[in-house]
Amino acid sequence: MSLKIVIFALAFFPLGAYAQCKVKNPANVDKVYENALRAVCNSLASDNQVSNKKFVLVITDKFKNPNAFAVKDGGTQIILINPPMLELHSKNFRSVSFVIAHEISHFALGHVQDLKDSDLKDRVIFSSLLTLSSFFGFTMNSLIDFVTISSAAQYSQKQELDADKFAVSLLTRNGYSKNDALYSMGLLQDISSSSSFNDFLKTHPNPSLRFQKIQSAN
Ligand SMILES: [Zn+2]
Repeated sequence: MSLKIVIFALAFFPLGAYAQCKVKNPANVDKVYENALRAVCNSLASDNQVSNKKFVLVITDKFKNPNAFAVKDGGTQIILINPPMLELHSKNFRSVSFVIAHEISHFALGHVQDLKDSDLKDRVIFSSLLTLSSFFGFTMNSLIDFVTISSAAQYSQKQELDADKFAVSLLTRNGYSKNDALYSMGLLQDISSSSSFNDFLKTHPNPSLRFQKIQSAN
């Protein structure tokens, strides 16, 4: 193959084209959400600064309140998101791109410890997610699961703010805007006073602080 052809091929089929996001939908939410999430994930994962471009996105209804988090098991990058989080963003669904960007950022910044290297007894839960879509349905008790998984996905306040900042740069480089991030953060801010939001506040810093930091990010 001549050099010209190679250059041509690289120009039109950049490496990012190999981003590969699978969506598992055991919660059976509308396909529209499923397809939109896949598209968002693929476009963000195609970014040059995201080195491992394979993600499995699981929509699970086993957590009651709006939440999303990242876990890694045996090298597989898994993003969990629940229907309340999707519904929260439904009036301006492109803004859910911030939630996905934030979780992808935790992976890209090396925040996510692989469960295979941790003492967490329940790592089988995550492995099983990949093969058994109904696994949650008959095995997990929602409250205990939440505690287990959210403690597995615990980051420092600094890591959370770094993930927000990286997420904004991911968004703006890939066809989204800072406004999508601000809209999403605004939603989280609005509901943060309600008691149903306690789970999320346990795992993430104060939404007002996050909003301010996103606003001042370049
Ligand atoms: Zn986070």
